Amino acid sequence: MEGISLVPIGAVYPNAADFLLFSLQEIFNVKCEILEGHIPLAPRFNADRQQYHSTEILQQLLPYVKRKGQHVLGVVDVDLYIPILTFVFGEAQLGKGCALMSSFRLHQEFYGLPEDESLYLQRCEKEAVHELGHTLGLTHCRHFECVMRYANSVEDIDMKRNVFCPDCSKLLRIPSLW
Ligand SMILES: [Zn+2]
Ligand SMILES: [Zn+2]
Repeated sequence: MEGISLVPIGAVYPNAADFLLFSLQEIFNVKCEILEGHIPLAPRFNADRQQYHSTEILQQLLPYVKRKGQHVLGVVDVDLYIPILTFVFGEAQLGKGCALMSSFRLHQEFYGLPEDESLYLQRCEKEAVHELGHTLGLTHCRHFECVMRYANSVEDIDMKRNVFCPDCSKLLRIPSLW
């Protein structure tokens, strides 16, 4: 990977993109940039589900990959779904350039709790690293605290760390930050 382009789509939490810019730069040791996203969300809305179709938005991100080795991560703050699942935190092309994440269910407010910005940003970071890990070819990891472990709930996300376990780091040929 040569660089990461973050593409906020629609209204996202103001500090999320800046926070991810710096943290992803550190974790992946590559240059990160923020690109303005011009992807309308309205056509991806499913009125019956009150959610947005993740795979369709992911498709819209493909033209944002302009350079070899560039990985693109779209960030939305709306609820995402794929037809077979109730919701998804994100979706990625395995071993290819594009990924998408939603921070909608990462807010404490979503669970009827007072908002906690620091916790919210930590969750965003883990979800971003996880989806980018998929774009680098990683599948789900069984290591309990590895960022590549599958998360079905926000509790699962909170139990993980924000970095790759030694096994996943080895597959990526990057020094482990474990
Ligand atoms: Zn995953
Ligand atoms: Zn792992």
